[in-house]
Amino acid sequence: MKTPVKNFIGGKWVGAHSGRTFDSRDPATGEVVGRCVDSGPEDIDEAMKAATEAFEGWRRMPAPRRGEILFRVAERLMRDKETLARTVTREMGKVLAEAKGDVQEAIDMAYYMAAEGRRQFGFVVPSELPDKSALCVREPVGVVGLITPWNFPIAIPSWKTFPALILGNTVVLKPSPETPVTASLFVQVLEECGVPPGVVNLVLGSSPELGAALVRHSNVALISFTGSTATGDQVAMDAAAGHKRVALEMGGKNAILVMDDADLDLAVDGITWSAFGTTGQRCTACSRLLVHREVKERLTRMLLNRMAKLTVGNGLKPGVEIGPLVNHAQLERVQRYIQAGMQEGARLLTGGKALTDGEYARGHFFAPTLFDQVKPTMRIAQEEIFGPVLGVLEVKDLEEAIAVNNSVQYGLSTALYTRDLNRAQRAMRDIRTAIVYINAGTIGSEVHLPFGGMRRTGNGHREAGQAALDTFSEWKAIYVDYSGRLQRAQIDKE
Ligand code: NAD
Repeated sequence: MKTPVKNFIGGKWVGAHSGRTFDSRDPATGEVVGRCVDSGPEDIDEAMKAATEAFEGWRRMPAPRRGEILFRVAERLMRDKETLARTVTREMGKVLAEAKGDVQEAIDMAYYMAAEGRRQFGFVVPSELPDKSALCVREPVGVVGLITPWNFPIAIPSWKTFPALILGNTVVLKPSPETPVTASLFVQVLEECGVPPGVVNLVLGSSPELGAALVRHSNVALISFTGSTATGDQVAMDAAAGHKRVALEMGGKNAILVMDDADLDLAVDGITWSAFGTTGQRCTACSRLLVHREVKERLTRMLLNRMAKLTVGNGLKPGVEIGPLVNHAQLERVQRYIQAGMQEGARLLTGGKALTDGEYARGHFFAPTLFDQVKPTMRIAQEEIFGPVLGVLEVKDLEEAIAVNNSVQYGLSTALYTRDLNRAQRAMRDIRTAIVYINAGTIGSEVHLPFGGMRRTGNGHREAGQAALDTFSEWKAIYVDYSGRLQRAQIDKE
């Protein structure tokens, strides 16, 4: 990779106006992964100009042609999967197998959206008047601004970019300052697969002001944002001031519910994967374990045994299951939650501390942590921690488990372990999160189903599947009157 890593605007790799750079560092070793240009509002202006100029040509390109480009992107991502995944691991720390999963999500989404080039269904309905037809077609929204986090540095940009492109929108992508190198490799794939100049633009930078400049830009038609709820709130307010459409995917506080009839071995597998995979830094990570009192002691013992065997380390090393936290600020945040848990009376069973010896010394490693005696109102049971920290809450039955599950402000993902069909059906009806798993952990969504959250996790939009098409398009209703006379809807009924 040439340094500094540059912006991609109007089909060219260009520097930033500021002349400044910032470094992206490996959270396992502290090494610089890439030195990147540090952009400001002027660079956003240029990217917006390029995207605006490219819009008309791209909108008019037949959707199946756009689909062919996305198909090539899918094939190319598949070819480069290993290299891309290594950069993901180096830049944000997740273990290599998970980094490959991150790239695979992009591959799946590229194939899915490529096929939408030949589908993208509208509909035809009868008119209430004779000799008149009525149909509905999807229209692109315009230039869309995409603001993405670091925890899925390939998957999330692709989940936004591909549906936007297949529908004829042009894009300005503002990725997280933690993962600019991965973002630039992603955009390079699009360039090399034939996305025309100006259709996708990339602006890198370290300041929160950069995202804000994109949201506030007068020409941006839609903002699709994924990140924390605090930032999402700000984005929503800025977007509202400019009458912008805005789709928000924000924080989560997800739970696994384990009933007394559950297969506990299976549950331990799902809990370990959901709570400690990606070092707990997934929006769908499980950080609350709501366990039936009859099996709580046994399950806790089994879980502690499993946790004692987890290998923490550099995600590039074979056998490592848990990588570092993304940066020092994230490590401090997790430490603050450990303090809060202890102050509020939760019992620390294992972990609770940063790992700093030997090979851990240069990275942001944290021991997988389990709290017991957590109460539903404690901060560690209510707030998103985004680290390898799990709290056990005892419940007396399914009804209490569902009530506690629903008592947080977020509404992303819930899992239930039970062998009782009636309990499973009741949970599917009463759980208030937008994703529900039965006998599987809280993570593992597939690209053809809607993804997103209820309540404070989102604002009613969904990513992925057919739902993504609704986010990135407008409906246009078209009436064609071939009667040759004035026909008045609602009035000319006789
Ligand atoms: P973050 O909110 O700090 O940053 C997200 C993005 O917003 C970054 O690109 C950042 O530079 C940008 N940004 C910061 N301030 C801004 C502003 N004022 N205006 C516009 N943009 C601004 O989040 P993060 O730490 O990168 O990611 C972790 C968060 O993302 C967690 O809360 C996690 O739950 C959430 N997340 C949610 C989903 C989901 O689908 N619901 C998926 C992944 C991550």
